[in-house]
Amino acid sequence: MPTDRNYTNLTINRDRAEKYRDSFETLKINQTFNTWVLDLIESGIDKMRFLRKTFPGYSFAELDGEGFTIIDKTKNKIFRIHYEGKDLICSEHAKAICDHKLYACFHPKFLG
Ligand SMILES: [Zn+2]
Repeated sequence: MPTDRNYTNLTINRDRAEKYRDSFETLKINQTFNTWVLDLIESGIDKMRFLRKTFPGYSFAELDGEGFTIIDKTKNKIFRIHYEGKDLICSEHAKAICDHKLYACFHPKFLG
């Protein structure tokens, strides 16, 4: 048990942690894995705050695994965002820049 009261234990899935620790090592980031993970948590929370403030009518939905799905409650519509090669595609606006793509890119759950 660490005696330094500035640290706490965080229990996470071992398989996922080891998988991502290996990927992290290949990136050669000048930071410890634990500090990097904590920075990602902070960044993810900041991004979620930004999204809720900027797009209060949007929410992310896990519907069927076909791309990233946004529900626009103000229009009662669903938008899907996905990659086609190097292009980011919106189901409504295709390759054009739109708020749906911005929302997706800032959302911590967007994997492309
Ligand atoms: Zn769009």
